[in-house]
Amino acid sequence: MEKTFKFRLYPDKKQEIQLAKTFGCCRFVYNYYLNKRIEAYKENKQTINYYACSADLTNLKKQLLWLKEVDKFALQNALRDLDRAYSNFFREIKKGNKNQGFLKFKKKHNSKQSYRTTWSNNNIEVNGNKIKIPKLGWIKIAKSRDISGRILNCTITKTKSGKYFVSICCTDVVIDKYERTSKVIGIDLGIKRFATTSDGEVIENPKHLAKLEKRLTREHRKLSKKQKGSKNREKQRIKLARVYEKIANTRTDFLQKLSTRLIKENQIICLEDLSIANMVKNRNLAKSISDVSWDKFIRMLQYKALWHDRLIQKIDKFYASSQSCSACGYKNTEISNLSIREWECPQCHTIHDRDINAAINVLNEGLRLLNSTAGTVGLQACGDGGYEVCEAGNSNCEVRST
Ligand SMILES: [Zn+2]
Repeated sequence: MEKTFKFRLYPDKKQEIQLAKTFGCCRFVYNYYLNKRIEAYKENKQTINYYACSADLTNLKKQLLWLKEVDKFALQNALRDLDRAYSNFFREIKKGNKNQGFLKFKKKHNSKQSYRTTWSNNNIEVNGNKIKIPKLGWIKIAKSRDISGRILNCTITKTKSGKYFVSICCTDVVIDKYERTSKVIGIDLGIKRFATTSDGEVIENPKHLAKLEKRLTREHRKLSKKQKGSKNREKQRIKLARVYEKIANTRTDFLQKLSTRLIKENQIICLEDLSIANMVKNRNLAKSISDVSWDKFIRMLQYKALWHDRLIQKIDKFYASSQSCSACGYKNTEISNLSIREWECPQCHTIHDRDINAAINVLNEGLRLLNSTAGTVGLQACGDGGYEVCEAGNSNCEVRST
C-alpha cells in the first residue's frame, strides 16, 4: 500500500538558495514546454508528448547550463506534471465540462513553490531526524512519526509564509487494518453543518474556523491599504499567508480525524458524488471553502477505504436526496427550498430533520446501487433501521452480523 508522510523541513541558508533555484528551474521547464506545445499545435496541429519533451530537454540543458545545477529528476517530473495537466484538460473537455480552463503558465508569485524528486539508487534517505535529498544533502526534519515501506519519491514545498515541508511517498507500507464491521452509513454534506449521518449524528464545522475566517477578511483589508512594494506590505503579506495556512491546517486536521473515525466505524460509506463542475459555478466564499474541503474529505475517505478494505459508494448528484421521504418514498418538491430544516411527510406523517432524512436516502440509494451490481456485496435492510452485510457477498446468506 502507498502512503505519504509529511514533515516540516529546516534547510540552512545554502540549501534554501538551492531550493529556490530548483523551484525556478522546474517552473521554467514547465512553462517552456507548455509554450512549445501550444506553438506546435498552432503551427501545424502537432502534439508533442512527454517523451519528445524529455528528449528535447536533454538538448536544452546543453544550451542552458544553469539547468544542470539542479536535480534532474525534478525537471523530469515537471514535464510529467505538464503532461498530466494536458491529459486532465482533455479528459474534462471530453466529459463536456465547459468550466474547464486551459493550462496556465506558472507564475513566480502566484503558484505554489514545489518540486518532486524521484528515488533512485538511494538518492533519498531518511536517517534519524534528517533526510537526504538530491543536490541538497542532509536536511533536518521535524519527524513526528516513523516512516515505513520503500521510498518512491518526495515533494518539497515552500508555503507562502516561508515554511518548508517534505512529503515522502512510500510504497509497500504494511497497514495495520481495522477490524471488519457490519456497520454502513450514509452521509449528507452541507454548508452550515459540515455533515449529517444517517445515524442522526450532526457533525459541525470546527468552531474556531469561523473566527479565523473573519480574521482573514480583516488581514486582507489591511493588506490592501499598504503601499505596494513597501516593507510593511511584505510583512502584512506574510501575516495574511499565516492565517491562510492556519485555516488550511485546522481544516485538514478536522478532516483527517473525521475520515479516520468514519472509516474505522463503518464498512460501507455512501455519499453524494459532488462534481467539480458544480463547484466552479459558485463564487460565494463560504461555499467555495466547503467545496474544497468536501473534495479533500472524499479523497481522504477513498484512500483510507483502500487501506482498511472499506467501501465508498457514491450516488448520482441528481438523485433528489433531500426531497424524498426516507420512510415511504413520497417526493416532496417543496423541500428544494433550503430554509426548510424540518418537515412532515404529507403521506406517512413522519417528521423529518432535513439533513438526517437526506443522509438516510443517500444510504438507501447507495445500498440499492451496490445490490444491483451483482456479486459485490450482499446487503439487506433488516427492518429496525440496521443493515446486515454478508461477507461472502451472498444476500441469502444465513451467517450475518448486524
Ligand atoms: Zn413519508
